[in-house]
Amino acid sequence: MLVKKQYNYCILLIISLFLCGLTASGCSRTGSVSVDRRMSRSFVRLDRKQYVPLIVVCKQYDLSWHWDGFSKIITVKNLKSNAKLFPGSGLILFNNEVFDLKSRVRIHRGQIMVPQSFLRLFTKKEPPLKLRRKSVFSIRKIVIDAGHGGKDPGAIGKKGIQEKDIALDISLRLKKELTKQGIDVILTRDTDIFHPLKKRSEIANKEKADFFISVHANAAHTSSANGFEAFYLSTDYDDFSKAVQIRENAVIKFEENAGYEYSDDLNATLWDMILSENRIESIEMANSISDELKRALKLNTRYIRGARFRVLKGANMPAVLLEMGYLTNKNEAMRLNNAYYRQMLAEAVATGIIRYKKLFESSDGFSK
Ligand SMILES: [Zn+2]
Repeated sequence: MLVKKQYNYCILLIISLFLCGLTASGCSRTGSVSVDRRMSRSFVRLDRKQYVPLIVVCKQYDLSWHWDGFSKIITVKNLKSNAKLFPGSGLILFNNEVFDLKSRVRIHRGQIMVPQSFLRLFTKKEPPLKLRRKSVFSIRKIVIDAGHGGKDPGAIGKKGIQEKDIALDISLRLKKELTKQGIDVILTRDTDIFHPLKKRSEIANKEKADFFISVHANAAHTSSANGFEAFYLSTDYDDFSKAVQIRENAVIKFEENAGYEYSDDLNATLWDMILSENRIESIEMANSISDELKRALKLNTRYIRGARFRVLKGANMPAVLLEMGYLTNKNEAMRLNNAYYRQMLAEAVATGIIRYKKLFESSDGFSK
């Protein structure tokens, strides 16, 4: 009931914002010394948490705010700071860093309500938990994820070749090549074992990796499909990406505790925002690897595209998913089944990664 009520308020707000031409904004200025008292009078208790209307916070701290009806993102800023809020979520972007407010931003009686912890961003008293800080632009540690494994064979190609075996072998070789270049490489698996998708990105997060690379091989209904593809996480995707994404996400059927929540569109937007800086890096990395495969192996590098891959979604760092070739294509399956070819693939991918690393480190971070 409560949810429905809130939903109604949300709809009301959105409709009224639509009437205002899909955007709304405000700006306030106050110099009153009694603002603290005034603000405390505005506190509302929702689900046993203290909330305050955003408009009151804006008055208190001399902030302007702006609601974008298309992205459903609220931007709050002054000359020094810029915060992006996502109604329904407690994660916010503050000066391009992710903070956890511990309580979600919500719409209550037609007003945007922020939890008390939001105020700490402006008072500098015990700031809310910062999720990720990026200060050094270097790539020292990479987590390589050999796709599938154990009870999940992945794609099965000509002559019964299994994607899990191809992915593992290329990943092991890639680790060797990158280690030679001084990169610290962690594998999510180095044997034929099963990991749920979530665990793979968790390993990368725990290791505080600078990059996450998931290695796969593709399959298609048409045996003519061939070539290399790279994907990065995005909410924008086309029908082709969707087809690959459905196949790669299908591992979920092998997972016993598949109860973890997958995002609705709102959360997808949120993650998209959080990952926007990572996305630039992911695209650049995908391009660098793809260019090298084209140059060294004359591979048909088909696509570099965005898609919603679950394995990439949980990673707090730039991440790419590589489809090394089609197991359903006779020639490509034959080559992928050849150890010498897999070694050449691993060497070319490593060269692409190293080239990207050098470019990234000299650029001081693309997103800055
Ligand atoms: Zn796969």
